[in-house]
Amino acid sequence: MKVIMHRRNFITFITSSISTFFLNPRALFSKSRKPGLFFDESAQLAGRITVRSNSLRVNEPLQLIARWGYMFISLEDLAHALHLGVYTNEQKKKSVLYIEKDLVTFAADNTFIKFNSQMLQIPLECLWYDNAVWIPLKYAITILDKYTPYSWIYNATQKELRIEETDVNIIGVRISARENGTLIDVFATKRFKEKEVILDIRNRWLHIDIYGAKIDPASIAANQPAGIISRIQAFQMAETVSLSFKLKKEVLSKELVFDPTGNDFHVNLRTKEVIAENREREKLKEELEERKKLWRIDTIVLDAGHGGKDPGAIGYSKAKEKDLVLPMTLTLGKMIQKELPGVRVVYTRKKDVFIPLWQRTKIANDVGAQLFISLHCNSNKSRRPSGFETYFVSADKNSKATEVVLKENSAIEYEASHDLKRYEGVNFILATMLQSDNLRRSQFLASEVQQSLKSKLSKIGMSSRGVKQGPFWVLVGATMPNILVEAGYISNSHEEKLLKQKTTQKKIAEGILNGIKKYKIEVEKAI
Ligand SMILES: [Zn+2]
Repeated sequence: MKVIMHRRNFITFITSSISTFFLNPRALFSKSRKPGLFFDESAQLAGRITVRSNSLRVNEPLQLIARWGYMFISLEDLAHALHLGVYTNEQKKKSVLYIEKDLVTFAADNTFIKFNSQMLQIPLECLWYDNAVWIPLKYAITILDKYTPYSWIYNATQKELRIEETDVNIIGVRISARENGTLIDVFATKRFKEKEVILDIRNRWLHIDIYGAKIDPASIAANQPAGIISRIQAFQMAETVSLSFKLKKEVLSKELVFDPTGNDFHVNLRTKEVIAENREREKLKEELEERKKLWRIDTIVLDAGHGGKDPGAIGYSKAKEKDLVLPMTLTLGKMIQKELPGVRVVYTRKKDVFIPLWQRTKIANDVGAQLFISLHCNSNKSRRPSGFETYFVSADKNSKATEVVLKENSAIEYEASHDLKRYEGVNFILATMLQSDNLRRSQFLASEVQQSLKSKLSKIGMSSRGVKQGPFWVLVGATMPNILVEAGYISNSHEEKLLKQKTTQKKIAEGILNGIKKYKIEVEKAI
């Protein structure tokens, strides 16, 4: 995973493995089932946009086209207007934009943007129109702004695009506590030589002096201290930048490491591993107690998938996923309350109502739940597939999971456009989730639940499809361990019949309950 920092101090995590993650507009729009909102199928000319720049020569206003309610600009037009290099492969419907030493590749009908060798993704695909690649202004500009040496500002209401040169080359720092020390990451847009970076510790301050650096001191100083660092200061001098970090304690050694492939560099501060002082030991004990409280399971959020205007999958003889998962969820809730006294159950919905995906995990976060469990039923174009599976969230591109992920993620097409904005930062959230303890715990929970479901459901002939992973939007954003259960295929006529039966629904609830119980015992034993 590569980490890049925005010049305005915005962290973006990129992982090339996030591929099925963003909404696939093709999958959504191709159905063309409803007009309005952003389901405008044809591209239309939509006036012109003024391009201004303080550093690049600009020659003319550019044509815009509108589609799906978004504005697109021709990459060729943009490159010509800015006197930047551009190469279009008409056969592959791809264009490469050359900005200084960077290559940015856009492809029609594709949500991926290649920045040098990194794959980035935007929520909307580029278009092929009039033998050129047209890029969605709103999203493409965000990428260009983050990764190129210029600042790109798109003003939609004034139809203006401003491109400004910025000379800031240290765009951010990040401090993180490690087991045996503290790590400082310095994010740069230019490659500094080793001799241009000098580390020095004086009077419990670490100074990183960088020759030839330019910073925005306020944005650097606004970073959160962590680990043994209690304060951050940043100074811009004529030829040098000084980044200063107040240290809480002695440092055993300091180390400067340059990114072998990028421009960033890292300062590793090692401290003593064994904390001998009594006071420190007391503090550690308190921290452990706090952590115990954090993991002890006292609130579980149950999420019955879909609801209201979103029916979810439709079964072989027209059973709706939303109607099947609701009684399962309510039954499970009652069982938890009976068998795990003291555990609070919170439902995202108890009725047939529509709840946006983002709101479901927000509910879980707001009530401080320790588990989030989302219940669904599966479907397939083929009537044959059957069985149940349990998912935990990940960026892994498991091709088999892709279909299920797209199916579940497409629930957002029922959401209002202001809700869609909520998903813009999901890459970031996903990446932070992957680093957390939650992933390990979610995986463990998923395997316990799947095992317990198997022992309940194999008796009635339903087969286990195993534990799987996928980037489900309904799980992204949960700050606690979370899973998604696909309780069986309603596209399979036999399984649809089973899933409609109260006895099967009860078995599913029991299976999940047993999994939760095993998980709870194991997790609470560890603390
Ligand atoms: Zn579903």
